Amino acid sequence: LPSPTQAIPVIIVGAGPAGCGTSFFLSKAGIQHIIIDKASFPRDKVCGDAISGKSVYVLRTASEEMLQELRMDFDNICPSPGLTFVAPNGKALAIGFGKDKAGHSPGFTATRLHFDNYLFSKLDRKFATVYEDATVLSMERNGGGWLVRIQTPQGVRQFQAKLVVGADGEKSIVRKMLGLSTASPKASAVGLRAYYRNVKGLETPEGAGNIELHFLPELLPMYLWIFPMPGGMANVGVGMPSADVRDKKINLREQMLNAIANNPALSERFKDAELEGKILGWGLPTSTTKQALSGDGYILVGDAAHLIDPFSGEGIGNALYSGMKAAQAIERAIPADDYSAANLKALYDDPLYKRLWGELKTSALLQRLSRYPFLFNFVINKANRSPTLKKTITGMFVDADLRKQFSQPGFYLKMLMNR
Ligand SMILES: Cc1cc2nc3c(=O)[nH]c(=O)nc-3n(C[C@H](O)[C@H](O)[C@H](O)COP(=O)(O)OP(=O)(O)OC[C@H]3O[C@@H](n4cnc5c(N)ncnc54)[C@H](O)[C@@H]3O)c2cc1C
Repeated sequence: LPSPTQAIPVIIVGAGPAGCGTSFFLSKAGIQHIIIDKASFPRDKVCGDAISGKSVYVLRTASEEMLQELRMDFDNICPSPGLTFVAPNGKALAIGFGKDKAGHSPGFTATRLHFDNYLFSKLDRKFATVYEDATVLSMERNGGGWLVRIQTPQGVRQFQAKLVVGADGEKSIVRKMLGLSTASPKASAVGLRAYYRNVKGLETPEGAGNIELHFLPELLPMYLWIFPMPGGMANVGVGMPSADVRDKKINLREQMLNAIANNPALSERFKDAELEGKILGWGLPTSTTKQALSGDGYILVGDAAHLIDPFSGEGIGNALYSGMKAAQAIERAIPADDYSAANLKALYDDPLYKRLWGELKTSALLQRLSRYPFLFNFVINKANRSPTLKKTITGMFVDADLRKQFSQPGFYLKMLMNR
């Protein structure tokens, strides 16, 4: 027999960064909700494990205390002092991220096994009813919102909710049940992740080295990353637009292992390296056109909303940020009891796109420019010779609005003129 129907304002499907982000801010606003995940925590997620300043901003806004506890745990997190770009011609450009007033680097790395479990452990059970090993069986639209049936280890539960938040990642079941496109958008990418021990050159005398992006000529437009991790480990991976992988029938795994073994810039560093566990792949949903992120009675956040940055592949920051914005929208929709598509667009899509769209558009352009190795070589050669240009580029990485300059021809023209 199904359990009696329980009324609840909000159901969040998925308890990764997007779902936890939504839950933190709903709890702060005192809004009761259910959050379910089909996995039980701790669980892994294929990722580069680089957690940016944007994630830190959202976590600080949720709880300064939580952020401090997380980033003082040096057994499990590794602060990132900066970013090193290696151009196709082998020249490197190192950009320091600087430190905040309290002396912290703005970003860090942590395995998703640890990071996501930490977020999950911080769900506020006073407002969040949490189900692990649970999935949605059906979502039926009715006068009061949604009748949602959930399979839990304790049996089937039935809820009447005003609003459903789809935070269930790249293969979102909520998208599927809403009849939205589930095929990865044209602009999407696929990536591989491997953990290695004993990679050389991850340390500097001051501590962990920069996170590294290598634009190797044999891999373009794909790049290979090497991210120093806690415990002397390295997260190594590659990402490439899905269309290239499909059209050119590229074997990502083979290409990555080839580059590590044979590229002169890498082979020495990987000579004694040992692979830990398996090389795993997963999709990176990005959009280059504005899509609706909500509709009648629902909001999509994180990867379920296709919010990954098309150039850097970064998605944790936007997952947390969209979760925060979704909770703020819900807080405003509840008093008016208005969960219509028009109201949710005004309360969620519009403010979110206002903050993120410029950044996503610039990144899409940069992603296209990365097909032209000469541009990379040119910028990195010049920046290494001109401290002013290096400073400008550093600023561009810290400030997403300044990054727009990369996509303007005037920027390259100026570089040509100012030798
Ligand atoms: C190879 C690779 C490298 C990447 N590197 C980086 C990086 O270095 N930095 C960065 O910021 N981003 C990176 N990303 C992107 C980042 O991993 C995602 O953007 C991020 O995980 C999105 O968070 P999310 O909460 O939206 O989704 P997820 O983290 O995927 O969480 C979704 C949750 O929903 C649950 N779920 C799924 N289906 C159901 C269901 N039917 N019912 C209930 N629950 C369900 C899942 O178990 C999961 O816990 C990378 C991605 C890939 C593939």
